[in-house]
Amino acid sequence: MGMEWLIGAGAGVFVFLIYLGLDITPFLFLGGAVAALYLLTQGRGVGRNFEFLGGGEGAPPISQVTFSDIGGQDTAKRELMEALDFVKDSSRTEQLGIRPLKGILLTGPPGTGKTLMAKAAAEYTGAVFVYASGSEFIEMYAGVGAQRIRQLFGRARSLAQKHGKNHAIIFIDEIEVIGGKRGTHTSHLEYDQTLNQLLVEMDGLRSHDDVHILVVAATNRADLLDDALLRPGRFDRQVRVDLPEKEGRLRILEIHMRNKPLEDEVDLEEIARETFGFSGAHLESLCNEGAILAYRKGKTRIGQEELREAIDKVILGERLEKRPTDAELKRVAGHEVGHALVSEVVDPGSVASVTVTSRGRALGFMRPVPVEERHLYTKEHILDRIAVCLGGAVAEEAIYGERSTGSSQDFEQANQLVSQLIGAGLSSLGIVNEKYLSQEKLHQAAKEILEEQEERVRGIINARVDLIKQVSEILMEQEKISGEEFRSLLKLATAA
Ligand code: ATP
Repeated sequence: MGMEWLIGAGAGVFVFLIYLGLDITPFLFLGGAVAALYLLTQGRGVGRNFEFLGGGEGAPPISQVTFSDIGGQDTAKRELMEALDFVKDSSRTEQLGIRPLKGILLTGPPGTGKTLMAKAAAEYTGAVFVYASGSEFIEMYAGVGAQRIRQLFGRARSLAQKHGKNHAIIFIDEIEVIGGKRGTHTSHLEYDQTLNQLLVEMDGLRSHDDVHILVVAATNRADLLDDALLRPGRFDRQVRVDLPEKEGRLRILEIHMRNKPLEDEVDLEEIARETFGFSGAHLESLCNEGAILAYRKGKTRIGQEELREAIDKVILGERLEKRPTDAELKRVAGHEVGHALVSEVVDPGSVASVTVTSRGRALGFMRPVPVEERHLYTKEHILDRIAVCLGGAVAEEAIYGERSTGSSQDFEQANQLVSQLIGAGLSSLGIVNEKYLSQEKLHQAAKEILEEQEERVRGIINARVDLIKQVSEILMEQEKISGEEFRSLLKLATAA
């Protein structure tokens, strides 16, 4: 109301000044500049902010997305739900004096469903959902970001109260924009103030607050985040959301085809197989493109042909990296199974899963079962780890007769482990001061260790080449194999 009165009074004054014959242009400029500044600092100018999020102004910020609307991502969903159970059962956790969970960080490539996960988390815990993106906090004016953080928390609280909820989830996308390491930005004061305000707000969250706020943040660059954000009591839970494997892609396709009429011969499995490297968002776009193509052809149902065409459209439109060739994929599979085999032989039960879906720069990945961070390692343990590193290259050699460039990272890691052995006085050189040793001597000692392990690994691999081939075939077909599945195949092969 106040603003309207001011505008009315201002217009009156201007009419009066014109009547007196004064030139009012400078006043108009000044007035315009003041109004623009006001609107910007209130967050109503360019880049409207979270004030309007949560389904648009006036719409209840209650999420309709459930975990069953998210395809694949089983591990991420399980980890997230486990964390949320603490939030749901807050009276019991409070009774036991458990610190309330304040922040969950979702990390992973774009379009993999992180926002969906946060929305499903709101539905699961019966919380209101408020969305903000990191870039909305940063403006040219000092102090705006910090003020917006305060508004965001205030808004979450008032929305929860308005809708009679005890919980609110604030979702901050692109957290790296405000949560980057402090002191690294050029206009660092503004960024630092914004991050500091976020930390202050999170530190102020208490379990006995009438509205329990949980901050869920998403990033695809967790490595850029300030350590202060990851400390206990802030984002101390991290959930990794990766590109979906074939099974996951099939589930996602099924979800997005739920409301679309399909021809009977449509084979979604084939589409899932052909969409290696696609994220959930790409798959959603594929389903939509398929429907558009059917519409253009005047069809009432979507056929396999349209879906195949849609794959190409999405790949071209998004400049998606091409799927590796079958030959490359086969090599990657053999390489990863080599790592897994050596890992199981030297330390039974150590493989969690093997996949040939890309993770960052790696084309495939053998995920070990997480072991507690240790402080002391024995010589035997380090030698075993070196052997696992070499398993990939040796397996490639055993199957294809030659190695590829795909092992350079493995060798780098193996060399680091070797240096660790030498430095700890666990090599044939005994306790040494590396400063006084010639490069030649060091190289000789390292070579000795590596050659010995290579021989050991060759023994393990050559005895089970058929198994590696068999598991590679399975990997080519389903892109992922669990540790248990791998162990049972290994057991069968050993018994035979
Ligand atoms: P960004 O990092 O770019 O913000 P994001 O990881 O938050 O991306 P979302 O915004 O959650 O991704 O996903 C975008 C769209 O892609 C969703 O609205 C949904 O249609 C589709 N999608 C992504 N992942 C999945 C999934 N696992 N199951 C079903 N649909 C998905």
